[in-house]
Amino acid sequence: MVSARNLTKVYGRGSGAVTALDSVNVDIARARFTAIMGPSGSGKSTLMHCLAGLDSITSGEIMLDGDMVSSMNQRRLTRLRRERIGFIFQSFNLLPTLSAEENILLPQRLAHRKPQRDWYDAVISTLGIGDRLSHRPHELSGGQQQRVAVARALVGRPEVVFADEPTGALDTASAAALLETLAGMCERLGQTVVMVTHDEQAAATTNRIIRLRDGHITGVEAVRRPAGTR
Ligand code: ADP
Ligand code: MG
Repeated sequence: MVSARNLTKVYGRGSGAVTALDSVNVDIARARFTAIMGPSGSGKSTLMHCLAGLDSITSGEIMLDGDMVSSMNQRRLTRLRRERIGFIFQSFNLLPTLSAEENILLPQRLAHRKPQRDWYDAVISTLGIGDRLSHRPHELSGGQQQRVAVARALVGRPEVVFADEPTGALDTASAAALLETLAGMCERLGQTVVMVTHDEQAAATTNRIIRLRDGHITGVEAVRRPAGTR
């Protein structure tokens, strides 16, 4: 679904150059919840940004569903990000003057697109924010704000959702609820989700863990759970 071949990303040049990703090969599975783990500075955010077409790469290839993302021009990248990718940040980045619903629908409005009603309803009910839609962000808890941000990323029905430490600003209970929700989006709605986390417990709720260190992949593991648990 999303794959990188020999992906290298170097920031800067000359003696100050930093190789954030060094010839990385990775495949992200469709309709699965994938975690990217690794110490601070190991290249997690860089990998996500490159896979999502948010950042240019130094060499290698990135493919999304048969399309070569790494050779797209700016105009096609803008369309890709608008129509095929959802991104969730650690800070929720909601607009304070808009209601929850207006925040959720803003990217669609800017793209002159109408959300599919059935999908919109499924996203709102899976996230459990149906009774909060008219509230402004400051009237919502951190966990609710992050769920609104998740709805905003999902409502255009992107092929992949990338989340960079989405639980980083949440208390334990809200973080657990959000992870449960993201897992549910994959299981019940067939959504593909890739999440950066440095929390082993959070990673254990996913289907697969990709480990990074110093810009290299050091391991890919399937997550096994006892039968009957999620
Ligand atoms: P992580 O998300 O795992 O903490 P990052 O992908 O943010 O790691 O960073 C990987 C490496 O690239 C680090 O050494 C970081 O300092 C460097 N880096 C990240 N962004 C930039 C940038 N814009 N300019 C220069 N170096 C950067
Ligand atoms: Mg990071």
